[in-house]
Amino acid sequence: MSTRTIPLPHAPPLPDYRHWPTALGSTGDSIQALYIHIPFCTHKCDYCDFYSLAGHQDQVDGYLDAIERQMQREVDFFGPIAPSTIFIGGGTPTLLSPVQLQRLMEAIHRYCDTSRVEEFTVESNPNTFDADRAAVLAAAGVNRLSFGAQSFHLAELAMLNRDHDPQSVGRAVRLARNAGIGNLNIDLIYAVPGQTLGSLTDNLDRALELDTTHLSCYGLMYEPNTPMTARARRGLVQRVDEELELEMMRLVAERLRQAGFKRYEISNWAKTGWACRHNLHYWNASDHLAWGVSAAGHSGGVRWKYVSSLHRYCDAIKRACLPLAEMECLAPGIRWAELAVLQLRLADGIDLAGFERRTGLPAAGMLSEIINKYQSHGMLDTAAASRGQMALTDAGVAISDSIFADVFAALGARFTT
Ligand code: SF4
Repeated sequence: MSTRTIPLPHAPPLPDYRHWPTALGSTGDSIQALYIHIPFCTHKCDYCDFYSLAGHQDQVDGYLDAIERQMQREVDFFGPIAPSTIFIGGGTPTLLSPVQLQRLMEAIHRYCDTSRVEEFTVESNPNTFDADRAAVLAAAGVNRLSFGAQSFHLAELAMLNRDHDPQSVGRAVRLARNAGIGNLNIDLIYAVPGQTLGSLTDNLDRALELDTTHLSCYGLMYEPNTPMTARARRGLVQRVDEELELEMMRLVAERLRQAGFKRYEISNWAKTGWACRHNLHYWNASDHLAWGVSAAGHSGGVRWKYVSSLHRYCDAIKRACLPLAEMECLAPGIRWAELAVLQLRLADGIDLAGFERRTGLPAAGMLSEIINKYQSHGMLDTAAASRGQMALTDAGVAISDSIFADVFAALGARFTT
């Protein structure tokens, strides 16, 4: 089983837009979601491995020029697009001035048919959000905001090297509501070095007091090449041990369920009806376009990623080149095994009959051994199983990586020669 990777040159010249691989072959009609990446931040947090740049605000206008050109070219290639969700992430999109945000919003409305948009999210750091930005976003149809709070404890924020204070989160939430944007997410991180069950409980309570529709709670990841990982490797910070991290995961589940939230994905919690529709597109492997430096798109089993260099991205766009870093035509085994693993992240899990209709793979039979094994150990939800779904229990979530590996191997094996 293999994935066909289309080789791309690592040095200029990059392919130009006329040479966008015909393998893509899809039209704008299939595009369900649109992502736009804004890479600018006030500073770099120690755990961050997103493509983001501190102190380059003088390059924002040039970057917006490049994004607009990219929008025009991709709409020319794919045909008109009418996504149901738009997500502007980063980086810190609200680091853009109100005038720059207004310009970006106007470009989106110029190049996309936004009449079908159900959910339009912008990510923000609480200390970069104000009434003027809120007004610009609300007027442009943004109806969801996602605030990176991470913690309400100064010591934990310092450990993560965040640059906002805990009070700014509540202030940002109030400003959003005053502007008429009520669908709000707060991001929290647990298993921060030095964190205790007590301080995590306090973080959850402080987030719940803000009465948002959605909470994302992630365990701290030690990504390669981040200052946090380097510090942990040199023994300068003490990682939370596995046992305590599991207790923290259980605490998050218990506290958020008590407060009326439902876990609809491993790290994502929402009140009824407020799951993030954009991210659901990702977990269901829907076709989506992605614009901007380091952004990653997917269409019809082909996925691609743009270069992670602001200079290379802007330069390529100026020369009418595709700023591609990589592109893969997924072999069916990989494509459908990945889809199964993505769906298994969701509370509804894999609808086995629906999966077979979409992929042609008899998933119920192919996964029966795995289902029996994990169900007998309480890792799969028996009520969901009676409805023909394969879905994780809380205990299953705790060992999800092992289950994912088994599912991937079972579905992918069919294509192994
Ligand atoms: S604000 Fe977000 S994107 Fe920017 S450096 Fe921090 S974690 Fe990374």
